[in-house]
Amino acid sequence: MDMISYGRQHIDDADIQAVVECLRSGALTQGPKVAEFEQAISAYVGVRYAVAVSNGTAALHLAAIAADVGSSSAVVTSPITFVASANAALYVGARPVFSDVDPETINLSPSGLVHTLNQNPDAKVIIPVHFAGLPCDMVAISAAAVNAGAVIIEDAAHALGSRYSDGSMVGSCAHSLMTTFSFHPVKSITTGEGGMVTTNDEQVYRRLLRLRSHGINKGSDEFLDQDAAFTDGRPNPWYYEMQELSFNYRITDIQCALGITQLAKLDRFVARRRQLVARYDKAFAGSKLIRPIQLGQRDRSAHHLYAVRIDFSAAGISRAEFMTRLRESGVISQVHYMPVPAHPYYRRLGFCADHYPNAQAYYRQALSLPLFYDLTEKQQDTVVSLLNELLRRS
Ligand SMILES: *Cc1c(COP(=O)(O)O)cnc(C)c1O
Repeated sequence: MDMISYGRQHIDDADIQAVVECLRSGALTQGPKVAEFEQAISAYVGVRYAVAVSNGTAALHLAAIAADVGSSSAVVTSPITFVASANAALYVGARPVFSDVDPETINLSPSGLVHTLNQNPDAKVIIPVHFAGLPCDMVAISAAAVNAGAVIIEDAAHALGSRYSDGSMVGSCAHSLMTTFSFHPVKSITTGEGGMVTTNDEQVYRRLLRLRSHGINKGSDEFLDQDAAFTDGRPNPWYYEMQELSFNYRITDIQCALGITQLAKLDRFVARRRQLVARYDKAFAGSKLIRPIQLGQRDRSAHHLYAVRIDFSAAGISRAEFMTRLRESGVISQVHYMPVPAHPYYRRLGFCADHYPNAQAYYRQALSLPLFYDLTEKQQDTVVSLLNELLRRS
């Protein structure tokens, strides 16, 4: 049986060709494709600088370092996200703080955020997550951030190709210091594994370039040890300096070659996802038990996920049973996400998901249905009738 998963990549001959050409070129990493991909992304989203890294989690980690969070401060993020958004705070020794979501958008609630910032005056960074691709209310969030003296790192892992309400693209950093993306196969475009940080701040950009590669000086960075760096006034040909502790978070040229040809298809990917979302919305319009989220805000999202709330208790079927039955019929659904503070590791740190009632209420009913470029209308109709049938029978 051909399984229909909740998300998957679309790879065409141009992608394969680009990767093969890269392999033949001899430059597998640190070659020209990395900069070419960075320029393509920055032109697409309308930002000054982009730094490609090995994955979206590395992008968040480096962004947290570059934001100078510091170990005595707090980082505010959403409880409904992938663990990496909050882990970025822990990686730099900061304290993660969760602020509840809005029950309709499942994005950070701006009024809730103001309250959270008042309660946590040590908050130095806010990481809003554009859930399922719908951009957060960045005007309100950035006003709250300015008030609290915090900087913003947007986790846009779901939102490459999404637009803010003024029409500008997510990633342009009009309301943030940095934005991070992921190119995991389920995301808008893929490089296998991959990530990107965008910024308009030149100092942050240059630091990110160093941080991506062990904290070693790059380009025209000034040497810290001038005596060791120069002979007779000229830079020593062998010389480089590690200026701070960092990691190897580099991405390969092979991945970036794929990223470039993927990006060329992004508008087509988003347009198709939008059509499929409209078909789902129409199919569920009369349903009492299935309620899609983010309705009425469809034109700004890149539609990473099609997430619905299902009233499983009213339907008299557990979500586990529901998902198992779907899988038996060839449909793989998923839940995005169990609130991060509910994970055992976070519970051990003292977090409790009950403190985020909107996140908890959403989590209890959440289900992500198949949504990807190659999903056919016939497959989609199968998903819809399976859902209706399961809810009718129970
Ligand atoms: C996918 C994802 C990440 C991490 O990206 P990777 O490339 O898998 O490391 C971070 N945040 C969110 C919201 C994600 O969905």
